[in-house]
Amino acid sequence: MRTLFVAGNWKMNPNSAEAAVALAEAVKSGVGQAVDVRVAVCPPAIYLSRIDPVLAGSPIGLGAQNMHAKPDGAYTGEISGAMLVDAGCTHVILGHSERRHGQGETDDAVNGKLHAALAAQLIPIVCIGETRLERESDLTEDVVARQLEHSLAGLSPEQMAGVVLAYEPVWAIGTGLTATPQQAQAVHAFIRRQLAAKFGEATAARVVVQYGGSVKADNAAELLACPDIDGALVGGASLKPADFLGIIEAGQSVTAKGKG
Ligand code: PEP
Repeated sequence: MRTLFVAGNWKMNPNSAEAAVALAEAVKSGVGQAVDVRVAVCPPAIYLSRIDPVLAGSPIGLGAQNMHAKPDGAYTGEISGAMLVDAGCTHVILGHSERRHGQGETDDAVNGKLHAALAAQLIPIVCIGETRLERESDLTEDVVARQLEHSLAGLSPEQMAGVVLAYEPVWAIGTGLTATPQQAQAVHAFIRRQLAAKFGEATAARVVVQYGGSVKADNAAELLACPDIDGALVGGASLKPADFLGIIEAGQSVTAKGKG
């Protein structure tokens, strides 16, 4: 069965390396050696090499929030996959809605980064999800299908099995609005059917699909208990150790009970 995976996206926070190190230390000591739930933190790029030694000896992965598709060259301000690996990264978030909608990142751009991440041996967390208008226009499945089709183009089933997806309805990110477990499960099940059609049933059954969008300690358990929800990508609540650890604990109790 798929192991639940909880990742924290710190976005452009906190404001100092000292605060970032303190946050990573608090998460590390709270997680201890718990390995029944996969955990990663994704700090701003400038803190990655400071946080890598903090996480040494813990099972917590270190993720970046973006990368460039090219391995090197004249790309001012950009960071390559090899640089992220050199800084200690194991994971990279790709196609977050704040990049798709704020920076005009297209599915094709995400696809280029995805291939580059896999070539660099990073575990990609590829974000997809519809806007409020798209949901209200009954376009959720169309949008998600299009994002999957183009963002995942050219992957082999074996490569796909190592990719993490994050279904993040844009209207639920940072808004305090959360998809109900029924809404989220319905889209996750749709995603898995799409993966099965494209990559085969066996691969689809292996792919970890996180939910993201205002996940908190008090709503995590019911989301994580859904059969096709395999973890959470957490923004705001990942900046408060108690809240983030509460989500991990919810994942541990769902794991202990089993999904039935
Ligand atoms: C995110 O940034 O991916 C996210 C889901 O944010 P939040 O948890 O704050 O909604």
